[in-house]
Amino acid sequence: MRSELEIIQMEVGLLQNFCEVIGCPETGDAALVDPAFEVDRLLAVVREREWTVRTILLTHTHDDHVAGLDEAAEATGAVVRCHPMEVERARAFAPRVEPVSDGEEVTIGAGVARAVFTPGHTPGCVCWYLPQPGAVITGDVLFVGSCGGVHYPDSDSVAMVHSLQNRLGALPEETKLYPGHDYGKTPTSTLLWERLHNPALTNDTLDDFRRYKKVR
Ligand SMILES: [Zn+2]
Ligand SMILES: [Zn+2]
Repeated sequence: MRSELEIIQMEVGLLQNFCEVIGCPETGDAALVDPAFEVDRLLAVVREREWTVRTILLTHTHDDHVAGLDEAAEATGAVVRCHPMEVERARAFAPRVEPVSDGEEVTIGAGVARAVFTPGHTPGCVCWYLPQPGAVITGDVLFVGSCGGVHYPDSDSVAMVHSLQNRLGALPEETKLYPGHDYGKTPTSTLLWERLHNPALTNDTLDDFRRYKKVR
């Protein structure tokens, strides 16, 4: 039986970014997700709970998700895990960066975070699925009520539709959603709510999605 991980969501910086602290109450091992801004606040949460950060998980390496990575890596000595295509950029911030593979389960104490490759916003986007407690951290792929931009030079709307419909679509509908930005009516949601109400998901063909996102 895997241990249920605790997820603490924190809004940081001026771009409504969410970072997460994930901890295993059983062992005290912890991970940070996308340490970008106000790293001291993340570390204060870790200290309060007497946890030890062993891993830093990245959803992708846009500046607003890695701006505090150097500070977080130096303070914790943690190993950074990200998509192979984002490794080089992550190494500019942290000495210990290891690529993750699709479906790989990264240990956090007695629990795991599973890498789900979800290209589209960038080619190297990873969503992190936590089977216990049943949650997914989606970075800039899926937000509450919308989704990340596909207008960047390396964005790919075909890949994005596949990621939203087939990759995130394969996760259980009761999965709790932790987006990378606080752009919705609520800070978290469920995949079921999004499937029913989010135009990024209800526009489920490539043509409809492109019209919705105003991209070609
Ligand atoms: Zn981004
Ligand atoms: Zn972002």
